[in-house]
Amino acid sequence: MGKQNGSCWWCVKAFKWIPVIFILTIVFWSYYAYVVQLCYYTIDSYLQKTLYLIFFHIFIAMFLWSYWKTVFTDLISVPEVFKVPLSEVEKLQQAQSEEAQCAILERLGQNLPVSNRTIRGAIRFCDKCQLIKPDRAHHCSVCRACVLKMDHHCPWVNNCVAYHNYKFFILFLGYALIYCVFIASTTLQYFIHFWKGELDGMGKFHILFLFFIALMFAVSLNSLFFYHCYLILHNRSTLEAFRPPMFRMGKDKDGFNIGKYNNFQEVFGENKKLWFLPIFTRYVFLGNGVVYPVRAQHQGPSTYNSMGNTQNSFGDGISFPERTYDEDTHNLLGDNGP
Ligand SMILES: [Zn+2]
Ligand SMILES: [Zn+2]
Repeated sequence: MGKQNGSCWWCVKAFKWIPVIFILTIVFWSYYAYVVQLCYYTIDSYLQKTLYLIFFHIFIAMFLWSYWKTVFTDLISVPEVFKVPLSEVEKLQQAQSEEAQCAILERLGQNLPVSNRTIRGAIRFCDKCQLIKPDRAHHCSVCRACVLKMDHHCPWVNNCVAYHNYKFFILFLGYALIYCVFIASTTLQYFIHFWKGELDGMGKFHILFLFFIALMFAVSLNSLFFYHCYLILHNRSTLEAFRPPMFRMGKDKDGFNIGKYNNFQEVFGENKKLWFLPIFTRYVFLGNGVVYPVRAQHQGPSTYNSMGNTQNSFGDGISFPERTYDEDTHNLLGDNGP
């Protein structure tokens, strides 16, 4: 994504892989400590060994698969249609006032499906990428690009967590948490035996550390995972949780909230069999990375029916009935936002 500026650029690029290498080193050591030191050398029961090894391999496989997909998914760039031609960029730069800039942006964005605005109510423009920002897209200074539905830039995966890998990231957190809880709970009794000095052997320090590290990671992953579960159910990205998205009508932290089950499907897709596998899925009616369903009051020309229900359209001509929200009522009086 960024520009390649000689050896320094390569140093920075290599440096960014350190957290990923750190995580992989811990995972591979945990594999050795669990499989060799715990299961092979410490546990006597054949049945227990087998069961532990089967579950361990299932969890580590799911965890590493999700992690791999989060790290190596290429985030697809903003479509060409959002790019602003150079002649228009020059006009923007030469504009005498903020109002003149807003007017130019309004004209450029009139045929684009954008409902997010800046804090001053203008169409969002990225001067670095020279494009109109699609809804929920933000410029990432690390990736040096505008990223669709950017959640945050995560150094632990050396990638932006965004529209194309958000599901993988959640599964990575979930499977990593299961992996750590499984290790901590199955090593607990051996940890106690070693701690009390009832057991001794080569594996002592491996198993003591394994328990501590699994417990430590489980605690930190736990809060992160459940925080993201909350965000998914409320249809907010991490960035939107800190700064609610702006619409023509003003800011609305629930602007993209279309009900918990729809919010879940917007991230995990409609195919239930693929929900918990790190395979890209989506529910095409619930957003495509560029256009997302928004609550009725943020639509351009909203359509209301006499039953008080609203119709949300997705910008591609597809509509679905959505429950009326309390906030809809005052919008019936007019569409004059701030
Ligand atoms: Zn940008
Ligand atoms: Zn990034």
